[in-house]
Amino acid sequence: MLDKVLIANRGEIALRILRACKELGIKTVAVHSTADRELMHVRLADEAVCIGPASSGQSYLNIPSLISAAEVTDASAIHPGYGFLSENADFAEQVERSGFTFIGPRAETIRLMGDKVSAIEAMKKAGVPTVPGSDGPLGDDEGELLATARRIGYPVIIKAAAGGGGRGMRVVHTEGHLLSAITVTRTEAHSAFGDGTVYMEKFLEKPRHVEVQVLADGKGNAIHLYDRDCSLQRRHQKVLEEAPAPGLDPDARARVLESCREACITIGYRGAGTFEFLYEDGEFFFIEMNTRVQVEHPVTEMVTGVDIVREQLRIASGLPLSISQEQVELNGHAFECRINAEDARTFMPSPGKVTLYHPPGGLGVRMDSHVYTGYTVPPHYDSLIGKLITWGVDRETALTRMRNALDELLVEGIKTNTELHKDLVRDGYFQQGGVNIHYLEKKLGL
Ligand code: ADP
Repeated sequence: MLDKVLIANRGEIALRILRACKELGIKTVAVHSTADRELMHVRLADEAVCIGPASSGQSYLNIPSLISAAEVTDASAIHPGYGFLSENADFAEQVERSGFTFIGPRAETIRLMGDKVSAIEAMKKAGVPTVPGSDGPLGDDEGELLATARRIGYPVIIKAAAGGGGRGMRVVHTEGHLLSAITVTRTEAHSAFGDGTVYMEKFLEKPRHVEVQVLADGKGNAIHLYDRDCSLQRRHQKVLEEAPAPGLDPDARARVLESCREACITIGYRGAGTFEFLYEDGEFFFIEMNTRVQVEHPVTEMVTGVDIVREQLRIASGLPLSISQEQVELNGHAFECRINAEDARTFMPSPGKVTLYHPPGGLGVRMDSHVYTGYTVPPHYDSLIGKLITWGVDRETALTRMRNALDELLVEGIKTNTELHKDLVRDGYFQQGGVNIHYLEKKLGL
C-alpha cells in the first residue's frame, strides 16, 4: 500500500480523499493556498504545506509548487481529485517523472481522452456506441463539409476537439449557416484552447445525460459500477444526480455497460473513470470520457457499496480490484444534491462566513462537506460547499429522504442553492424520472 499521499486539491473532495487514506492507514499531506488555511482537511492531515497565494493559477494549478511539496514531505503519490490538474496529462507525466505515483490513468490515456476526436475514434474501435458524425476532424473542402452534414442530417453540432466545460460548440440547423459556423467555431477554438481542430456530430434534441462509472487495474482487469443520470444541468453544470439512471432500455443498457468495461481493457485503462453518454430514444451515444473521480461518485458508492476513492488508492498501490464484475450488485437508489454557496434564484456566488452549519442526518443520509460553523467560504474557487446524498431501498424512498434531509440542512451567514433543490425534489416530472438535459433550464425560464 502507498505510504503517504499528497492531496492536490481542496474542499470536500480533499476531505473525501483524506478520509479514504486514513481508513487504509496511509499518511496524508494537505496542500493549500494562503486563502485556504482554515480548510477542514488541512487541520486533519498529518502534514500541511502552503503552496502559494489564493489565485489557483499560482497554487492549485502550480505544478512546480506541488511537486516540491511532495518532495519536501517525502510523499509517495499524488491524488489530483477532480477539476484543477486532474485531467492534465503534462502534470501526470511530471509527477511520474519526478518519481511519484500519479493516482489516475497513465499520461498517454489522459491525452488520448483529452482530445475528443481521438477519444471518439478509440471508443468506436473498442465497440462503444458514438454519435453519428464526421468520424474525424473537419477539413477545408466546402463541398465535402456540406456533404458530411447532409449525410449526418440537420441539425448538426460543430465541436472543438480540445473543448471542455461546455465551451467551443455551435449548433447548426440549416445548410446556409454551416460553413460560417465551422469558421467561427474554429477561430474560437483556436483562441480558447490553442487548437482549432473541430468535428461534426448529429445534434440530439432531447437527450438525457447518462454516464457509466468504471474501475480498472491497468493490468487487464476492469469492472463497471452501473450508471448515473445527471440530466439536471444548468449551463452544462450538473446540479442533482442519481444512480441508477431510471427507466433505461434494459438491453441497450446491458450492452453499453459491457462495452465500457471492454473498452477499459482495450485501451489499458487504469484507475477510476467515467464514460459520458447522451441517451435518446433508447440509444446511447458516447460524448466523452472523464479520466478522474467525479463529483457525483457518491451516488454510485451508495448503490454498489464500492468505495471508489479506496479503489483508486488500491489500484495506485498496484493491488488488484477488490471485487469482480460478478460481485457488483446494485442495491436501491441514491440521489445527490450539489450544495453551492450561491443565490438559489440568480446563481450569483455568495462567499463569506458560515455563522451556523447543521448537516442533516439519519439512516441513508450522507453529507460530504468541508464546511463547519465559523468557516469562511473564500471567493476564489468553485462555489460547491457540500454534497447531500441520500440512499433508499427504492427511488421513492431515497427521494423522500432527500426532501426531509434538505429541510433539515441549515447553512446560515451565506446564501445557498438549497431552495432550488427543495423545489426540484418536489417537481412532478423529476419525480417520474427521466427528464432530459434541457428540463432544468426550461423550468428556470432560461
Ligand atoms: P464538454 O467537454 O465541454 O463538457 P461535451 O462533449 O461533454 O463537452 O458536451 C457538453 C454538453 O453539450 C453535453 O452534456 C450536451 O448537453 C451538449 N452536447 C454535446 N454534444 C451534443 C450532441 N451531439 N447533441 C446534443 N447535445 C450535445
